[in-house]
Amino acid sequence: MLRLGIIGDPLSHTLSPFLHRFLLEQSGIVGEYQAYETPADRLAERIAMFKDEGFRGFNITIPHKVKILEYLDSASSEATVIQAVNTVILSEGLLHGENTDITGFLKGLPDTVRESLPDRHGLILGGGGAARAVVAGLLRENIRTLTLRVRSMERAEGLAEILPSLREIYGSKTEVFLKVWEGLPDLHPFNLVVNTTPIGMRSPKNDPLEGGDSPLTESEIQLLPPDTLVYDLVYRPLQTPLLSAAQTRGLATEGGLKMLVYQGTEAFTHWTGHPVSPELAEAALKHILEAL
Ligand code: NAP
Repeated sequence: MLRLGIIGDPLSHTLSPFLHRFLLEQSGIVGEYQAYETPADRLAERIAMFKDEGFRGFNITIPHKVKILEYLDSASSEATVIQAVNTVILSEGLLHGENTDITGFLKGLPDTVRESLPDRHGLILGGGGAARAVVAGLLRENIRTLTLRVRSMERAEGLAEILPSLREIYGSKTEVFLKVWEGLPDLHPFNLVVNTTPIGMRSPKNDPLEGGDSPLTESEIQLLPPDTLVYDLVYRPLQTPLLSAAQTRGLATEGGLKMLVYQGTEAFTHWTGHPVSPELAEAALKHILEAL
């Protein structure tokens, strides 16, 4: 039996078990995928358990995507450069890290927006593990400029450190600006806004999991140009307050479900060697969410 799982804290919002159980069934593989809530001080213990019990792999979510690198035997070059891993493959007791959030994020973008990235000005809210993948994806696609709005200098410095290597591996010409959270940058130039903070995320009981409901106020959203895409990585709920406010303003929006599906199907193929259909998986997840 193939054993898989996800670690994070909190984990009550995660849809990954539904996704991977669907993919196991579709592929005719006998296996299980469980959520293992893991606080930061229990990370080592959890990894030892996965090794002892013969797991094939696991996903990593908030807040362990950066910390997990300390426990790996190897990692893909992109994961190494951005120092963030969301998928671990376990083989003969060795841990190998991949980052499937990068392509997951890019595939979640509508085609027209993806094609126009070299003419767009991006604003990324938040600076954790997911933000690193988003920065990598946007530099890979040569977005014109990228501004990162984070709340701590430590996060800003961590992001600044990975930029030179990313520019080098992608040959990217993107101009990047880092801003700490306080103070409102002039939002007029940004026609791509990506929320990578967990603000807006809710538990199955609909309780907020982070302070605040939206990382941008309604008056901030008013300042964005009309061709802006607002992309919220949060997928539970599907309709976040940020997306609602952007839609009210008449802006295009994308939620986190497509990214979840694409990063998940790529992880599944790493573990099993089975190619799977993201379209089927997305339809199944939507169906599951409606029934929850
Ligand atoms: P993470 O590594 O913990 O990073 C979270 C970032 O958000 C940090 O920079 C943190 O700032 C900031 N933040 C948290 N609460 C905040 C608040 N109240 N105000 C301002 N900033 C705040 O987490 P992650 O792994 O990047 O995940 C972030 C979110 O993206 C989660 O909701 C996750 O579910 C979602 N996500 C979705 C997908 C998908 O497939 N759709 C994939 C990856 C992630 P500090 O450093 O100051 O704490």
